[in-house]
Amino acid sequence: MFCAKCGKEVPEGTRFCPDCGADLGGTQASAGGNSETSVGMSANVAGLLCYVLGWITGIIFLVLEKKSASVRFHAWQSIMTFGVLTVASLILSPIPVLGVFFSSVVGIIAFILWIILMVQAGNGKKWKVPWAGDWAEKRVQKG
Ligand SMILES: [Zn+2]
Repeated sequence: MFCAKCGKEVPEGTRFCPDCGADLGGTQASAGGNSETSVGMSANVAGLLCYVLGWITGIIFLVLEKKSASVRFHAWQSIMTFGVLTVASLILSPIPVLGVFFSSVVGIIAFILWIILMVQAGNGKKWKVPWAGDWAEKRVQKG
């Protein structure tokens, strides 16, 4: 990568230019600086943490993280995926007899997605949940 201010070549992932001292994390954020977050941890870890408590941690990271598009994607995807599943469970569970069955199915789906999403995010992969993933991507593009 190159320093945005003085144009000198600097090692990949350098935070401050050794030559002129420019903050490279801020100016190069859109040019593949995805490992940089404003919550002070790597994007993988922050992405994983978006899912730990479902939509609750999604909202927390959406509020805290202002810089990393990948973390904000995971935050939005967590809110949508687990938000919808939570609402579905609340609507379905009061149904006599079948409610228990439906909410168990929703619970199993949520659990499987929860594991997959945390593993994928922890590995730095942008695994998209059908529909919810596309929705999250659009939210991130709008800013
Ligand atoms: Zn420089």
